[in-house]
Amino acid sequence: MTSDRTFVIVGASLAGAKAAETLRAEGFDERVVLIGAENERPYERPPLSKDYLRGEVDRETVYVHPEGYYAEHDIELRLGRTAVSLNTATRELALDDGERLRYDRLLLTIGAQPRRLSIPGGELDGVLYLRSVADCDALRDRLDRGGTVVVIGAGWIGAEVAASARQRGLEVAVIDPLAVPLERVLGAEVGTVYRDLHLDHGVRMLLGTSVEAFEGADAVERVRTIDGRTLECDFVVVGVGVQPRTGLAAQAGLAVDNGILVDQHLQTGAPGVFAAGDAANTHHPFYGERIRVEHWANALHQGPVAARAMLGEPDVYDRLPYFFSDQYDLGMEYAGFASSWDRVVFRGDPATREFIAFWLAGDRVVAGMNANVWDVTDQIQRLIRQRIAVDDRRLADPDVPLEDLVPADAPLTA
Ligand SMILES: Cc1cc2nc3c(=O)[nH]c(=O)nc-3n(C[C@H](O)[C@H](O)[C@H](O)COP(=O)(O)OP(=O)(O)OC[C@H]3O[C@@H](n4cnc5c(N)ncnc54)[C@H](O)[C@@H]3O)c2cc1C
Repeated sequence: MTSDRTFVIVGASLAGAKAAETLRAEGFDERVVLIGAENERPYERPPLSKDYLRGEVDRETVYVHPEGYYAEHDIELRLGRTAVSLNTATRELALDDGERLRYDRLLLTIGAQPRRLSIPGGELDGVLYLRSVADCDALRDRLDRGGTVVVIGAGWIGAEVAASARQRGLEVAVIDPLAVPLERVLGAEVGTVYRDLHLDHGVRMLLGTSVEAFEGADAVERVRTIDGRTLECDFVVVGVGVQPRTGLAAQAGLAVDNGILVDQHLQTGAPGVFAAGDAANTHHPFYGERIRVEHWANALHQGPVAARAMLGEPDVYDRLPYFFSDQYDLGMEYAGFASSWDRVVFRGDPATREFIAFWLAGDRVVAGMNANVWDVTDQIQRLIRQRIAVDDRRLADPDVPLEDLVPADAPLTA
């Protein structure tokens, strides 16, 4: 093996691991270094609020690759190492242990980090956040002990943690300023489905209010809301969104605005520097604007696209945003991107929790979610991608096959 060129990936994450895998799969036989701040080889985060959190699957199931994979593929995995500065002029990266690495190509897959609440009591013991497997192990330990948990935030992380905690038998209260869970993404109609789902499972939903303070002697003992309520608890989980990690890029003078700015090939403005996954704010050709997606599928698919761009064989990343969530017995997939819409059309009764919801802007579908209905995301994505006018009645009618709403030859990813 030659070692003429060095391709460095910062962020031993899903996107980073998939990029390294693709470099080798495409025949690149020079030096690949994968650097990760955590002491874990790359793993997937979705199980951390679902089956792994509930103790239903082993640690081994969360990893992207088996233990020996990186050595076998001659990928230098540097764990427990943080890249602390970057010089794009000299193409040098400095690590926290003083090492300096010269790179020919650099990929930043440094992800996102939880937004922290800075309110009185925010630093008390027992106020937990969930991003890493170490965070998850700490939370798992709390779930094992039982008791009462207050979840701050009814977004995806908060809602899934609340469901898992209920499934483990804890008393659960959720606090969120919005009127229904997930309202920002799903709107009131579908958010109501999730509110009722949690209520039916015995979660106390405190909606339309927010937390003012955490109180306790050494550890959190109670949560105070802005409308004067007090909730006794054993611990708290905060899930109030994430922020892209951009410090390294900003310090190096790369353009940053809600993420590291990249083009449709995932290239930054600096020669030889790329970004992918949660950290990247990507020009999306289908939408004609930049979007930053914080989902598993985006990290999974952007890694390989970034790798091909590093190899000088750029693809265009234009997949529609797609994500999934599992809460109790309600599984769903959501495709598309809707920052605004006119109305929601249901195929099936949302009260049965077995339905498809379509978000429409004018007469076009901009997003769709199948809940406990499977094998339809391809058709939903075609519907969005084709931007064809659809009739609400046919959309809602379960007797009209989704295929009939989209031309048979309509491409999925064109
Ligand atoms: C609990 C949980 C549940 C989720 N569930 C779902 C789900 O059901 N469906 C879904 O679609 N998505 C889900 N997601 C989101 C999904 O996991 C993320 O979109 C995905 O992990 C993003 O991957 P990434 O490769 O961009 O980076 P990340 O997973 O954020 O990883 C980035 C890595 O880079 C490392 N790093 C950062 N800075 C440096 C540095 N300077 N030097 C070295 N290393 C560094 C970090 O330590 C981290 O390990 C979930 C996320 C969480 C936390």
